Amino acid sequence: MIYLDNNSTTRVDAAVQAAMEPFWREQYGNASSLHTMGQAARHAIETAREHVAALIGAKPREIVFTSGGTEADNLAILGALGATAKRHIVTTAVEHVAVHSLCERLATQGHRVTFLPVDSCGRLDLAALEAAIGDETALVSVMHANNETGVIFPVEEVARRCAARGVPLHVDAVQTAGKLPIDVSALGANLLSLSAHKFHGPKGAGALYVGRGVRLRNCQVGGHQERDLRPGTENVAAIVGMGEAARLARERLAAGAMRSVAELRDRLEAGVLASVNFARVIGDRANRTCNTTTIGFTALEAEAVLIALSEQGVCASSGAACSSGSLEPSHVLKAMGIDERIAHGAVRFSLSHETTREEIDRAIEIVAGVTRQLAALGVGS
Ligand code: PLP
Repeated sequence: MIYLDNNSTTRVDAAVQAAMEPFWREQYGNASSLHTMGQAARHAIETAREHVAALIGAKPREIVFTSGGTEADNLAILGALGATAKRHIVTTAVEHVAVHSLCERLATQGHRVTFLPVDSCGRLDLAALEAAIGDETALVSVMHANNETGVIFPVEEVARRCAARGVPLHVDAVQTAGKLPIDVSALGANLLSLSAHKFHGPKGAGALYVGRGVRLRNCQVGGHQERDLRPGTENVAAIVGMGEAARLARERLAAGAMRSVAELRDRLEAGVLASVNFARVIGDRANRTCNTTTIGFTALEAEAVLIALSEQGVCASSGAACSSGSLEPSHVLKAMGIDERIAHGAVRFSLSHETTREEIDRAIEIVAGVTRQLAALGVGS
């Protein structure tokens, strides 16, 4: 199996699994309990909070644990809106559905939403951002890097414009944590979402960074956990796993492990482009996360390519969602204005530090073989 779908999820690191293990059957106390079992759980959560904070240059008390990236995004946006009478949100046309669909819903519920356009390389229009921010703007929500293309947004530039207008900025950093060094202060983010399973932690664990002075109203009502912002008994094992994954991710970043990931990604891309003359890279190649490439195979259907790849042991993903039997290019590729014939055949390959050169060389052969064969059969054309 050659796993090239790490933007969907990553393999839990063995050390993460080991760190989580005691919290199922040995240290199973409720972190709110006063007895020693409870206090052991509390201590483990607070240690995890320190590791997650360190990954993004935050203070531990600024970290709120959630059930994942989706919940962190929802808490950021709904929480910020709940704390103000302002009703305008600025976001981009290419956000993950956790933000995009929420904003679409809010637009039907009395809010005004501006979806900022991107160019054909997926780059943000900063002039449009500046023009969009007004006195009624409650929040700007912009992703750090796109999950489909890997294209990185100039968040510092966005933050400067938000700060100048006194508007809080939420950054969805689910696809950059562990891939890029993140410092929330340097970035200028007031709120920032993370998800453990994108950096070799467990699924169902995430966090929202809430910077000092940010006004946020809780979305769920219950106990006093996570400073009232996320009531409910903590998932201790998952939080501990996220903490250990954050610690390891920080170590890997410091050791420069992401440079080798970028080299392998470039090798894959060059190999595929050299052997498939109808392949095109989608997105800004100069400014992407180290592990991602989305390649459009002109006139092919991504679904057919993915099935054929899977049969040969290669796991990848597509920028298309199957709706009522027909594959529609994703809202991201549509917003980029990618030619339909390329967008329909868009396949995302996403690597991790576990990906090997041998796997990439084998993947190039398989991708070339599969796509040439489908093209010869006329699939999708
Ligand atoms: N935001 C981005 C950019 C993502 O890529 C994802 C997951 O793919 C999410 C949010 C949602 O995270 P989770 O799966 O932890 O809910």
